[in-house]
This record gives sequence, structure tokens and C-alpha cells, in this order.
Amino acid sequence: MFNKIVAELEPFGAKLVAVSKTKSTQEIMKLYDQGQRIFGENRVQELVEKAEILPKDIQWHEIGHLQTNKVKYIASFIHTIHAVDSLKVLKEINKQARNHNRVINCLLQFKIAKEESKFGLDYESGVALLESIKENPKEHIRITGVMGMATFTDDMDQVRKEFKTLKSIFDQLKTNWFPDDELFKEISMGMSGDYLIALEEGATMVRIGTLLFGER
Ligand SMILES: *Cc1c(COP(=O)(O)O)cnc(C)c1O
Repeated sequence: MFNKIVAELEPFGAKLVAVSKTKSTQEIMKLYDQGQRIFGENRVQELVEKAEILPKDIQWHEIGHLQTNKVKYIASFIHTIHAVDSLKVLKEINKQARNHNRVINCLLQFKIAKEESKFGLDYESGVALLESIKENPKEHIRITGVMGMATFTDDMDQVRKEFKTLKSIFDQLKTNWFPDDELFKEISMGMSGDYLIALEEGATMVRIGTLLFGER
């Protein structure tokens, strides 16, 4: 399955985030030995425990909603944080990254699903957040793109529509806020059930767990 997915991503030039939450370090090492280096987790404590044990060239991504008080535990090593949706958490990431003399990549999470989800920005609040950053530059974070989760549904037209929404948010932000910033380039969308649609709609990173590791 791993090789099949890697081959599917190849023509799109998209990156695979192997979502290893609840899976053992042995299971992670199986994929590592096949060449995978980007792994995603959602729970901070689990992430920290795994990162301590596993090879240092793994690029760890925090994909879940991150509470402000947990940022300090991952700031020394985390590569990308996917679900940033407030100035409060961005400020904390900046502060903790500064303590470690690092720059942490952050993706702004936008709410694209129809269903009631607690997390994610709408376009206006995303713009407001970027305006605050512009007024008060944060040298230890780098906004590298956007992230979204589609509605949990079998209706693939709905899912496609939502991915198109995220792509259009990305395009607008790119034009208006990051025209010359080559590092603002990531669209993190698509999971086991919908990653092929996400790729067609412009995903640059897909987050896949179940298909790689089996049911949780
Ligand atoms: C668990 C999770 C995934 C992976 O989901 P699968 O359906 O197992 O591929 C992707 N993104 C986020 C934010 C997750 O929490």
C-alpha cells in the first residue's frame, strides 16, 4: 500500500504525511525502513514519546488541534504544525520556537466542512490573523500554507467542493499576502478516504493513516 500511494502522489509532486497516531514505534519503523520520513501525530504526549525514541531525521508534523499550553513540549523538534487557527497559539509557537532558536512552519487551518466543527478559521479571520502578524512580525514562525478537513461523508461531490474552497482560499492568500514568498506553498488536505480527490484539487500534502497502518 505504501508504494502504491507514493506512486500516486508522484505525478502531483505532493508529500505524504504518514499519520501514525496510536501506532507503535515498530510500525513506524517499518515505513521508515521503506523510506518514509514525514510522520504526523495529533496527541502531544504520544508525539514526544515517539520522537525521543525514533531516528532524528524523521520530520514530525503536529496535525491535531494544539492547545497553547502544549506547544512548549514539541517546540524543540516539531517541523510543521498543521492546525493553527488563532493568534494566541501562533504567538506561543513563536515564543517557544525562539527559546530553541528555531523557526517552525505553520499551516493555517480553515473550516471548509459543512458539519459543525469547532476548529478552523473563516477567510476573514484568517486575513485578520495575517494583518496582526504583519503589524507584529514573528520571526520564529513561518506561515507555509493552509490546511483543511472535508466533511465526513460518502458524498464525494461535497468533499470535492470543500477542497476547491480551500484551494481558492490558498490562491487568494497567495495573491494578496504572499506573492513573493516561495515558502507559502502548502495545501494540506486529503486523508485515507479522499486523498485522490484532494490531489486532483491541488493538495501538496496528504495526511494518510488508516490506509498505511490499518484501522485504529
Ligand atoms: C487521523 C487524522 C488523519 C488521518 O486519517 P485517516 O482517515 O486514518 O487517513 C488526517 N488528518 C487528521 C487531522 C487526523 O486527525
